[in-house]
Amino acid sequence: MFNYALDELCAWIEGNGWSEVALQFPEGVKSQAQGIIDALTERTDASFIILGDPCYGACDLHQGFENYAEALVQFGHSPIPSMQVGTNVRFVEMRADIGLGDLLLDALPLLGDRVGLLATLQYLDLLPQAATFLKAQGRDAVIGVGDRRITYPGQVLGCNHTSAESVASAVDGFLYIGEGNFHALAAALGSGKSVLVLDPVRGEVRDMEAYRDRLLRQRFGAITQATDADVFVVIVSGKIGQRRLDKAEEAISLIKSKGRRAYKLVLEEISPAALLHYKADAFVNTACPRVSIDDAGLYKRPMLTIPELQIALGERDWDDYVFDVIEG
Ligand code: SF4
Repeated sequence: MFNYALDELCAWIEGNGWSEVALQFPEGVKSQAQGIIDALTERTDASFIILGDPCYGACDLHQGFENYAEALVQFGHSPIPSMQVGTNVRFVEMRADIGLGDLLLDALPLLGDRVGLLATLQYLDLLPQAATFLKAQGRDAVIGVGDRRITYPGQVLGCNHTSAESVASAVDGFLYIGEGNFHALAAALGSGKSVLVLDPVRGEVRDMEAYRDRLLRQRFGAITQATDADVFVVIVSGKIGQRRLDKAEEAISLIKSKGRRAYKLVLEEISPAALLHYKADAFVNTACPRVSIDDAGLYKRPMLTIPELQIALGERDWDDYVFDVIEG
Protein backbone atom coordinates (compact mmCIF):
# COMPACT_ATOMS: atom_id res chain seq x y z
CA MET A 1 0.00 0.00 0.00
CA PHE A 2 2.92 2.37 0.63
CA ASN A 3 5.31 3.72 -1.98
CA TYR A 4 8.92 3.87 -0.73
CA ALA A 5 10.45 5.58 -3.82
CA LEU A 6 13.39 3.15 -3.73
CA ASP A 7 14.71 4.37 -7.13
CA GLU A 8 15.55 7.76 -5.62
CA LEU A 9 17.14 6.13 -2.58
CA CYS A 10 19.31 3.86 -4.77
CA ALA A 11 20.40 6.89 -6.83
CA TRP A 12 21.38 8.72 -3.61
CA ILE A 13 23.40 5.76 -2.33
CA GLU A 14 25.17 5.20 -5.63
CA GLY A 15 25.67 8.92 -6.31
CA ASN A 16 27.44 9.37 -2.98
CA GLY A 17 29.33 6.10 -3.23
CA TRP A 18 28.21 4.90 0.22
CA SER A 19 29.36 1.32 0.80
CA GLU A 20 27.87 0.80 4.31
CA VAL A 21 24.40 2.17 4.98
CA ALA A 22 22.48 1.93 8.26
CA LEU A 23 18.68 1.72 8.13
CA GLN A 24 16.05 2.72 10.69
CA PHE A 25 12.45 1.60 10.37
CA PRO A 26 9.31 2.55 12.32
CA GLU A 27 7.70 -0.32 14.19
CA GLY A 28 5.00 -0.88 11.56
CA VAL A 29 7.57 -1.25 8.77
CA LYS A 30 10.14 -3.43 10.54
CA SER A 31 8.55 -6.60 9.13
CA GLN A 32 9.42 -5.31 5.63
CA ALA A 33 13.03 -4.39 6.48
CA GLN A 34 14.62 -7.53 5.06
CA GLY A 35 12.62 -7.31 1.83
CA ILE A 36 13.69 -3.68 1.42
CA ILE A 37 17.32 -4.65 2.03
CA ASP A 38 17.06 -7.41 -0.58
CA ALA A 39 15.71 -4.88 -3.10
CA LEU A 40 18.44 -2.35 -2.28
CA THR A 41 21.19 -4.97 -2.39
CA GLU A 42 20.13 -6.02 -5.90
CA ARG A 43 20.27 -2.45 -7.16
CA THR A 44 23.34 -0.98 -5.40
CA ASP A 45 26.86 -2.03 -4.42
CA ALA A 46 26.29 -1.09 -0.77
CA SER A 47 25.78 -3.33 2.24
CA PHE A 48 23.10 -2.58 4.81
CA ILE A 49 22.64 -2.85 8.55
CA ILE A 50 19.39 -2.50 10.49
CA LEU A 51 19.46 -0.27 13.58
CA GLY A 52 16.69 -2.05 15.42
CA ASP A 53 15.89 0.12 18.43
CA PRO A 54 12.44 1.72 18.46
CA CYS A 55 12.03 4.53 15.94
CA TYR A 56 8.82 6.44 16.58
CA GLY A 57 9.59 9.58 14.58
CA ALA A 58 12.27 11.64 12.87
CA CYS A 59 13.06 12.75 16.43
CA ASP A 60 14.46 9.25 17.00
CA LEU A 61 17.38 9.72 14.63
CA HIS A 62 20.15 7.29 15.67
CA GLN A 63 23.03 9.39 16.97
CA GLY A 64 25.68 6.66 16.88
CA PHE A 65 25.08 5.36 13.36
CA GLU A 66 28.57 6.37 12.20
CA ASN A 67 29.97 3.62 14.45
CA TYR A 68 28.38 1.16 12.03
CA ALA A 69 28.01 2.84 8.64
CA GLU A 70 28.85 5.84 6.46
CA ALA A 71 25.26 6.91 5.95
CA LEU A 72 21.88 6.61 7.64
CA VAL A 73 18.48 6.16 6.04
CA GLN A 74 15.37 6.50 8.17
CA PHE A 75 12.16 5.19 6.63
CA GLY A 76 8.64 6.43 7.24
CA HIS A 77 9.22 9.98 8.45
CA SER A 78 9.84 13.37 6.92
CA PRO A 79 12.80 15.43 8.11
CA ILE A 80 12.30 17.90 10.94
CA PRO A 81 13.51 21.12 9.29
CA SER A 82 14.68 22.65 12.58
CA MET A 83 16.72 19.53 13.47
CA GLN A 84 20.27 19.69 12.13
CA VAL A 85 21.44 16.50 10.41
CA GLY A 86 24.44 15.72 8.22
CA THR A 87 24.38 15.29 4.44
CA ASN A 88 24.87 11.55 5.02
CA VAL A 89 21.37 11.26 6.49
CA ARG A 90 18.31 10.69 4.35
CA PHE A 91 14.64 10.33 5.22
CA VAL A 92 12.52 8.09 3.01
CA GLU A 93 8.93 9.25 3.21
CA MET A 94 6.13 6.80 2.64
CA ARG A 95 3.03 7.86 0.74
CA ALA A 96 -0.10 5.75 0.75
CA ASP A 97 -1.32 4.47 -2.59
CA ILE A 98 -5.01 4.70 -1.70
CA GLY A 99 -8.04 6.78 -2.61
CA LEU A 100 -10.81 8.39 -0.56
CA GLY A 101 -13.74 6.61 -2.19
CA ASP A 102 -17.04 8.02 -0.93
CA LEU A 103 -15.64 9.03 2.45
CA LEU A 104 -15.75 12.74 1.62
CA LEU A 105 -19.48 12.42 0.93
CA ASP A 106 -19.90 10.73 4.32
CA ALA A 107 -17.95 13.50 6.03
CA LEU A 108 -19.77 16.39 4.36
CA PRO A 109 -22.86 16.59 6.65
CA LEU A 110 -20.57 16.61 9.70
CA LEU A 111 -18.46 19.56 8.55
CA GLY A 112 -19.01 23.30 8.92
CA ASP A 113 -18.70 25.91 6.19
CA ARG A 114 -15.02 26.58 6.83
CA VAL A 115 -12.85 23.47 7.01
CA GLY A 116 -9.17 23.16 7.86
CA LEU A 117 -7.48 20.20 6.20
CA LEU A 118 -4.87 18.09 7.93
CA ALA A 119 -3.09 14.79 7.33
CA THR A 120 -0.28 12.66 8.53
CA LEU A 121 2.70 12.33 6.19
CA GLN A 122 1.46 9.14 4.51
CA TYR A 123 -1.80 10.76 3.39
CA LEU A 124 -0.73 14.31 2.48
CA ASP A 125 -1.20 13.59 -1.23
CA LEU A 126 -4.95 13.28 -0.59
CA LEU A 127 -5.34 16.86 0.70
CA PRO A 128 -5.69 18.53 -2.74
CA GLN A 129 -8.46 16.07 -3.66
CA ALA A 130 -10.29 16.84 -0.42
CA ALA A 131 -9.88 20.60 -0.93
CA THR A 132 -11.21 20.44 -4.49
CA PHE A 133 -14.19 18.37 -3.37
CA LEU A 134 -15.10 20.71 -0.50
CA LYS A 135 -14.80 23.82 -2.66
CA ALA A 136 -17.06 22.23 -5.28
CA GLN A 137 -19.61 21.79 -2.47
CA GLY A 138 -19.42 25.49 -1.61
CA ARG A 139 -17.26 25.08 1.51
CA ASP A 140 -14.08 26.95 2.36
CA ALA A 141 -11.11 24.59 2.56
CA VAL A 142 -7.82 25.85 3.97
CA ILE A 143 -4.50 24.17 4.60
CA GLY A 144 -2.31 25.73 7.26
CA VAL A 145 1.47 25.99 7.43
CA GLY A 146 3.23 24.76 10.55
CA ASP A 147 6.45 25.87 12.23
CA ARG A 148 9.95 24.57 11.52
CA ARG A 149 9.25 21.16 13.04
CA ILE A 150 6.75 20.54 10.24
CA THR A 151 7.85 19.76 6.69
CA TYR A 152 4.64 20.15 4.67
CA PRO A 153 1.49 22.32 4.75
CA GLY A 154 -1.31 20.50 6.55
CA GLN A 155 1.02 17.96 8.14
CA VAL A 156 0.46 17.06 11.80
CA LEU A 157 2.91 15.35 14.15
CA GLY A 158 1.92 13.78 17.42
CA CYS A 159 3.80 16.57 19.22
CA ASN A 160 3.10 19.48 16.91
CA HIS A 161 -0.21 20.75 15.57
CA THR A 162 1.04 24.17 14.44
CA SER A 163 -0.28 23.67 10.89
CA ALA A 164 -3.74 23.47 12.48
CA GLU A 165 -3.05 26.32 14.88
CA SER A 166 -2.06 28.62 12.02
CA VAL A 167 -5.61 28.53 10.59
CA ALA A 168 -7.65 27.64 13.69
CA SER A 169 -9.26 31.07 13.98
CA ALA A 170 -10.36 30.92 10.33
CA VAL A 171 -12.13 27.55 10.39
CA ASP A 172 -15.13 25.93 12.10
CA GLY A 173 -13.30 22.63 12.50
CA PHE A 174 -10.79 20.27 10.91
CA LEU A 175 -10.94 17.29 8.61
CA TYR A 176 -7.97 15.02 9.27
CA ILE A 177 -6.98 12.28 6.81
CA GLY A 178 -5.09 9.39 8.33
CA GLU A 179 -5.22 6.23 10.41
CA GLY A 180 -5.70 5.92 14.15
CA ASN A 181 -6.17 8.64 16.73
CA PHE A 182 -2.56 9.55 17.48
CA HIS A 183 -1.99 12.52 15.18
CA ALA A 184 -5.62 13.62 15.14
CA LEU A 185 -5.53 13.89 18.93
CA ALA A 186 -2.68 16.41 18.74
CA ALA A 187 -4.87 18.58 16.51
CA ALA A 188 -7.93 18.09 18.72
CA LEU A 189 -6.13 18.82 22.00
CA GLY A 190 -4.02 21.60 20.53
CA SER A 191 -6.57 23.53 18.52
CA GLY A 192 -9.58 22.98 20.77
CA LYS A 193 -11.66 22.72 17.57
CA SER A 194 -13.66 19.76 16.39
CA VAL A 195 -11.61 17.24 14.43
CA LEU A 196 -13.25 14.75 12.11
CA VAL A 197 -11.06 11.78 11.18
CA LEU A 198 -11.37 10.39 7.69
CA ASP A 199 -9.63 7.02 7.81
CA PRO A 200 -9.02 5.68 4.29
CA VAL A 201 -7.80 2.28 5.54
CA ARG A 202 -10.76 1.45 7.79
CA GLY A 203 -13.08 3.29 5.43
CA GLU A 204 -14.72 5.27 8.22
CA VAL A 205 -15.38 8.79 9.40
CA ARG A 206 -15.36 9.50 13.14
CA ASP A 207 -15.34 12.48 15.48
CA MET A 208 -12.52 12.96 18.00
CA GLU A 209 -14.59 14.78 20.62
CA ALA A 210 -15.41 11.84 22.92
CA TYR A 211 -11.85 10.50 22.78
CA ARG A 212 -10.39 13.95 23.51
CA ASP A 213 -12.77 14.49 26.43
CA ARG A 214 -11.92 11.11 27.92
CA LEU A 215 -8.22 11.88 27.76
CA LEU A 216 -8.72 15.31 29.26
CA ARG A 217 -10.54 13.74 32.20
CA GLN A 218 -7.58 11.41 32.69
CA ARG A 219 -5.17 14.36 32.53
CA PHE A 220 -7.24 16.21 35.14
CA GLY A 221 -6.93 13.19 37.44
CA ALA A 222 -3.14 13.01 36.99
CA ILE A 223 -2.74 16.74 37.66
CA THR A 224 -4.91 16.56 40.77
CA GLN A 225 -2.85 13.63 42.06
CA ALA A 226 0.38 15.63 41.57
CA THR A 227 -0.83 18.76 43.34
CA ASP A 228 0.61 17.73 46.70
CA ALA A 229 3.71 16.03 45.34
CA ASP A 230 6.90 16.84 47.21
CA VAL A 231 9.48 15.03 45.06
CA PHE A 232 9.50 15.42 41.27
CA VAL A 233 11.75 13.66 38.78
CA VAL A 234 12.06 15.72 35.61
CA ILE A 235 12.79 13.58 32.55
CA VAL A 236 14.95 14.88 29.70
CA SER A 237 15.16 12.91 26.48
CA GLY A 238 18.51 11.68 25.19
CA LYS A 239 17.01 11.70 21.68
CA ILE A 240 18.14 14.55 19.47
CA GLY A 241 14.65 15.50 18.31
CA GLN A 242 12.99 15.39 21.72
CA ARG A 243 15.66 17.00 23.89
CA ARG A 244 14.32 20.08 25.70
CA LEU A 245 16.90 20.87 28.35
CA ASP A 246 15.75 24.48 28.58
CA LYS A 247 12.19 23.38 29.37
CA ALA A 248 13.50 20.95 31.99
CA GLU A 249 15.44 23.77 33.66
CA GLU A 250 12.31 25.95 33.68
CA ALA A 251 10.32 23.10 35.22
CA ILE A 252 12.94 22.53 37.90
CA SER A 253 13.05 26.25 38.75
CA LEU A 254 9.26 26.27 39.10
CA ILE A 255 9.23 23.16 41.30
CA LYS A 256 11.95 24.55 43.57
CA SER A 257 10.25 27.94 43.76
CA LYS A 258 7.30 26.12 45.36
CA GLY A 259 9.53 24.56 48.01
CA ARG A 260 9.44 21.07 46.44
CA ARG A 261 12.35 18.86 45.40
CA ALA A 262 13.35 18.17 41.79
CA TYR A 263 15.82 15.76 40.19
CA LYS A 264 16.81 15.70 36.53
CA LEU A 265 16.91 12.33 34.74
CA VAL A 266 18.11 11.72 31.17
CA LEU A 267 16.57 8.73 29.38
CA GLU A 268 16.62 7.43 25.83
CA GLU A 269 13.51 5.30 26.30
CA ILE A 270 10.96 6.17 28.97
CA SER A 271 9.34 3.10 30.46
CA PRO A 272 8.03 1.92 33.83
CA ALA A 273 11.16 -0.26 34.23
CA ALA A 274 13.46 2.70 33.61
CA LEU A 275 11.74 4.68 36.39
CA LEU A 276 11.40 1.88 38.90
CA HIS A 277 14.35 2.80 41.10
CA TYR A 278 13.66 6.50 41.59
CA LYS A 279 11.78 7.97 44.49
CA ALA A 280 9.22 10.38 43.08
CA ASP A 281 5.70 11.49 43.88
CA ALA A 282 5.33 12.63 40.27
CA PHE A 283 7.31 12.71 37.04
CA VAL A 284 7.57 15.63 34.65
CA ASN A 285 8.18 14.56 31.08
CA THR A 286 9.95 17.08 28.82
CA ALA A 287 10.54 14.43 26.11
CA CYS A 288 7.78 13.30 23.72
CA PRO A 289 4.59 14.64 25.32
CA ARG A 290 2.65 11.64 24.07
CA VAL A 291 4.37 9.44 26.64
CA SER A 292 2.42 11.38 29.28
CA ILE A 293 -0.85 11.45 27.39
CA ASP A 294 -1.10 8.09 25.64
CA ASP A 295 0.92 5.87 27.99
CA ALA A 296 -0.35 7.30 31.31
CA GLY A 297 -1.94 3.97 32.25
CA LEU A 298 1.50 2.30 32.35
CA TYR A 299 2.72 4.47 35.22
CA LYS A 300 1.71 4.22 38.86
CA ARG A 301 2.59 7.84 39.55
CA PRO A 302 1.49 10.92 37.56
CA MET A 303 3.55 11.64 34.44
CA LEU A 304 2.91 15.30 33.71
CA THR A 305 3.64 17.40 30.66
CA ILE A 306 5.14 20.84 31.25
CA PRO A 307 1.84 22.80 31.08
CA GLU A 308 0.29 20.17 33.36
CA LEU A 309 3.04 20.77 35.93
CA GLN A 310 2.17 24.48 35.79
CA ILE A 311 -1.45 23.64 36.58
CA ALA A 312 -0.50 21.26 39.40
CA LEU A 313 1.64 23.95 41.01
CA GLY A 314 -0.95 26.69 40.62
CA GLU A 315 0.80 28.64 37.87
CA ARG A 316 -1.87 27.95 35.25
CA ASP A 317 -5.63 27.39 35.44
CA TRP A 318 -7.19 24.12 34.31
CA ASP A 319 -9.40 26.21 31.99
CA ASP A 320 -6.17 27.28 30.29
CA TYR A 321 -5.03 23.68 29.62
CA VAL A 322 -2.76 23.59 26.56
CA PHE A 323 -1.18 20.79 24.60
CA ASP A 324 2.56 20.48 25.15
CA VAL A 325 3.90 21.30 21.68
CA ILE A 326 7.52 20.56 20.79
CA GLU A 327 8.22 23.65 18.77
CA GLY A 328 10.41 23.87 15.69
S1 SF4 B 1 8.36 13.69 19.79
FE1 SF4 B 1 6.83 12.03 19.87
S2 SF4 B 1 5.10 12.75 18.68
FE2 SF4 B 1 6.86 14.05 18.17
S3 SF4 B 1 7.73 13.15 16.32
FE3 SF4 B 1 8.80 12.27 18.09
S4 SF4 B 1 7.69 10.37 18.62
FE4 SF4 B 1 6.37 11.61 17.27
